[in-house]
Amino acid sequence: MSLELTTGIMMFFFGMVFGSFYNVVGYRLPNNMSIVYPSSHCPNCNHKLKFYELIPIISYLFLLGKCKNCKKRISLSYPFFEALTGLLFLLSYLVFGINIKFFISITFISILIIISISDIKYYIIPDEVLIVGSALIIIELLINCLIQDISILNGVVLPILNGLGAFAVLYLFKIFGDMVFQRESLGGGDIKLLFVIGLVLGFDMSIVTIFIASFIALPLSVISLIKNDSNILPFGPYLSISAVLILLSELNLESILQFFIK
Ligand SMILES: [Zn+2]
Repeated sequence: MSLELTTGIMMFFFGMVFGSFYNVVGYRLPNNMSIVYPSSHCPNCNHKLKFYELIPIISYLFLLGKCKNCKKRISLSYPFFEALTGLLFLLSYLVFGINIKFFISITFISILIIISISDIKYYIIPDEVLIVGSALIIIELLINCLIQDISILNGVVLPILNGLGAFAVLYLFKIFGDMVFQRESLGGGDIKLLFVIGLVLGFDMSIVTIFIASFIALPLSVISLIKNDSNILPFGPYLSISAVLILLSELNLESILQFFIK
């Protein structure tokens, strides 16, 4: 087997194991539950999961999607986010190879996966994830400066300013949206998330992220308006999908402008 194929398969499994952990973090953190204690258990009957019931995806298939003890259905979101994390780690490797960009990519993807799980389930984007995630990315940017001999100003300070700019733009969107809709249009978590997106994708592409996310979310918010659903729509997952598409396609403003000018 070629080295690239072996590494690719390893990245996929590596991602699935992390995805399995992100499920736990995404479900427990907003509830102020400890991430390490108690160990994984069935939410219905508290049956403690044995090691062979904890293998990403394989355990789910083996158990036919049911708790071994009480036979209650296990949410499909567990294997879904495991497979998704695996796939996105693999794609990060195929797009960037093994270098600092790869590590920034998987850190960014990890943040987006955890906040999406928690935003879908609880409408909460935990600050802890954004703070720890941003800190990790800033450290990675610093390491990149040392390796590539880039100035701290260009390699770290500029990305941070990009993040702050993106944060400020979405904050203005929120003020405007609150006025138009006469209710809270965007959650604080979405706005803080834009800092991380700006940090990684740059200011320009973080604005494109907002537009693509709104475009994907629009049909769904119209449906929710027609149904007169008072539920707020979690915007975090749409921002995440949009940011990952931009990250892995390496889309930039020049290519977008060229597309429209041609
Ligand atoms: Zn059970």
